[in-house]
Amino acid sequence: MYPVTDTLQRPLRDLRISVTDRCNMRCTYCMPREAFGKNFVFLQRAELLGFEEITRLARLFVGLGVRKLRLSGGEPLLRHGVERLIEQLARLEDDRGRPVEVALTTNGTLLAAKAHSLKDAGLTRLTVSLDALSAEVFRKMSDSGVAVGRVLDGIAAAQAVGLAPVKVNTVVKRGVNEGEILPLVRHFRLSGVILRFIEFMDVGTTNGWRLDDVVTAQEILERIDRAHPLRPVDPNYVGEVAKRWAFVDGGGEIGVIASVTQAFCHECTRLRLSTDGRLYTCLFANEGYDLRSPLRGGEGDQHLRERVVALWSRRGDRYSQLRHDATALPVKKIEMSYIGG
Ligand code: SF4
Repeated sequence: MYPVTDTLQRPLRDLRISVTDRCNMRCTYCMPREAFGKNFVFLQRAELLGFEEITRLARLFVGLGVRKLRLSGGEPLLRHGVERLIEQLARLEDDRGRPVEVALTTNGTLLAAKAHSLKDAGLTRLTVSLDALSAEVFRKMSDSGVAVGRVLDGIAAAQAVGLAPVKVNTVVKRGVNEGEILPLVRHFRLSGVILRFIEFMDVGTTNGWRLDDVVTAQEILERIDRAHPLRPVDPNYVGEVAKRWAFVDGGGEIGVIASVTQAFCHECTRLRLSTDGRLYTCLFANEGYDLRSPLRGGEGDQHLRERVVALWSRRGDRYSQLRHDATALPVKKIEMSYIGG
């Protein structure tokens, strides 16, 4: 039955699961306060997939070839009892009895208190978003009063419990935090943390994206290479989103995620499940496929599986490759905070 491939022969390998649409920060490139202010109506509890529902669907996806499950949000650590879900997912195995990878992307604000329980629950990979070390720049990017130290404490706690290598994602926005690139590199070099710089993306329709605000991967690498010479490193696997670079002096590794200037759609193996049970075949999709209704309507696994196979088989998304061809692009795009990055 698998691997299930789409119209561009890309296999279904990764499932990103959003477990909440809520967040305790308002990062300007993801959840700008103007759009997600105090009157914004978030999903109600009954609308969210329960942990048993998520696990049942995840088991079904693993049966179709998915090898990595990544939990995201909003902020996934806001979802009460998320460790219980991780325990359930960590028990899933592929057809050769190998456990699937269970990863999580967090803003790190709740991580220091939860690192232990996440590790004990079976989490295998952790990514923390951190866009600056300077308090002022961090405030500008996150539009929140959270202290940078809280996120750094979370990263240290995750490393201490063995959730290594911790990856740190930094979205770079021109005129706001490109000055943080070298301070972040200096802070995390030699620490075992893998720092990844992300080109500012036109996700959703609320973050005011302009191409002029994009600091390109090439600019980022040149800036780092001048201070700390780099050499390219082969990908860990086909479809790895970040391009890997290592410090020539052995100081560790960094990555760049260049969706704007070096599109990687040709290797995209990711499907996204929203917290209310809709499937999205691309981060820049404009509509999702409702799986919650048939699931709650009592449909059996075989029929649910056929729905997923049919959806993926007709998939042709390659938004980033088409980004510069305005005629080929959807006008309304789903918000990243709803389906996870
Ligand atoms: S733009 Fe869409 S198809 Fe391309 S890599 Fe991103 S999620 Fe995949």
